[in-house]
Amino acid sequence: MGQKILFEKIHIPGIKTYDVYRENGGYASVEKALKMNPDDITEEVKTSGLRGRGGAGFPVGLKWSFIDKKSGNPRHLVCNADESEPGTFKDRYLMEYIPHLLIEGMITSSFALGANLSYIYIRGEYMWVYKTLERAIKEAYAAGWLGKNIKGSGFDLDLHVHCGGGAYICGEETALIESLEGKRGNPRIKPPFPAVKGLWQNPTVVNNVESIASVPWILLNSGEDYSKIGLGRSTGTKLFSVSGHVKKPGVYEIEMGMTVDEFMNSDEYCGGMIDDRPLKGLIPGGSSVPILPNHLIFKTANGEDRLMTYESLADGGFATGSSLGSGGFIVYNDTACIVRNTWNFSRFYHHESCGQCSPCREGTGWMEKILWRIENGQGTEEDIDVLWSIQAKIEGNTICPLGDAAAWPVAAAIRHFRDEFEYHIRFPEKIKNRDHFVNEP
Ligand code: NAD
Ligand code: SF4
Repeated sequence: MGQKILFEKIHIPGIKTYDVYRENGGYASVEKALKMNPDDITEEVKTSGLRGRGGAGFPVGLKWSFIDKKSGNPRHLVCNADESEPGTFKDRYLMEYIPHLLIEGMITSSFALGANLSYIYIRGEYMWVYKTLERAIKEAYAAGWLGKNIKGSGFDLDLHVHCGGGAYICGEETALIESLEGKRGNPRIKPPFPAVKGLWQNPTVVNNVESIASVPWILLNSGEDYSKIGLGRSTGTKLFSVSGHVKKPGVYEIEMGMTVDEFMNSDEYCGGMIDDRPLKGLIPGGSSVPILPNHLIFKTANGEDRLMTYESLADGGFATGSSLGSGGFIVYNDTACIVRNTWNFSRFYHHESCGQCSPCREGTGWMEKILWRIENGQGTEEDIDVLWSIQAKIEGNTICPLGDAAAWPVAAAIRHFRDEFEYHIRFPEKIKNRDHFVNEP
């Protein structure tokens, strides 16, 4: 069993409630933080090496240090709980089963930033989790951890949960801020980054649920202790939500640095392939990141063990590597149809595009249509090159990363599974009416 930081207490009966959470050491990090200099808290988080767990992996302490504390403008902490990346459901698990851990992290982090008004922006479809958080926040107010003059410290904090309306794009931090301000969730052009001009043009830190929930442990122990867990620049533990053709799908907390082989095949985690069928592909970090074909899953292109770290999962760049992304670990066996799966992702990104920039608005639609054609046995050999050309023209040419997220899965599918696209085009009668796809020898 590796070190547990976020799930250490999650299995204690009743831990969702304030009383049980408090009896088990809950809110101790707030007691400690309120006696500290806020800038020292930021330093601890910097020392920990904690990186943003939403997908981009940006150092959390560094982001906090961009906040201008001298201007006197109000500052805000916004928790991005708009978890909607296909294959990613780790934040939901954390908020659902141990909501007070996130609230505790929100208080310590808000104190470090000098924020007196903070928000948790939660995905609209997570309505039952929204209610869980509302209940927990009410309990925290009643116990004096939120509101005016928290525990006599002179620090005030109001915390609100805001429910999204069901748009994936509102998980992009500037779209989220627009939505929180009551507007349509269109991403803003960056810079300025939210740390400079965010909510109501005030300095704002937007952090993922898992990132914020890691702060109490860092404060109670130390940044240095946290930095010793994990491997290299991938410090600490990480949540992975596992889905697909494995025996034990679910949400797992692991110490970063174990091999992908161990994670996938040990009984403690994924438990190996369901029905012991052959492994075909792996998406390690949610639908936005490239799929790895079977020969690049356990070993990198250099023949080294592939590890569960930011660096190793990305080793080889997008040609032979992928990304840790948001930890949405999707496993495919040989019955999975890569063309159908890629079409499904394109359909999703087309539907979720906000429409502001034409490469994304039009390109995602074209990709969806061409993929549907190929999947249904009406594709031409030329279609594969057209698809390649469209994805290349989207990547890097849009306001927000949704465009890239739509392009990368298509590029990786063509790069690694071109034979499967060709098979669909050349043998349409063989793929018709199939209920699964198996590559013929
Ligand atoms: P990003 O790299 O643009 O930014 C990362 C963070 O660092 C942001 O908060 C940004 O404001 C901050 N930052 C970067 N440079 C800065 C600077 N110079 N000054 C101040 N702040 C700076 O990426 P992003 O748009 O925040 O996130 C994209 C990622 O989100 C993708 O990798 C994708 O995997 C992930 N994603 C996750 C979900 C989910 O459900 N968890 C959904 C969609 C996308
Ligand atoms: Fe909107 Fe897509 Fe442009 Fe992002 S990339 S701003 S989602 S059109």
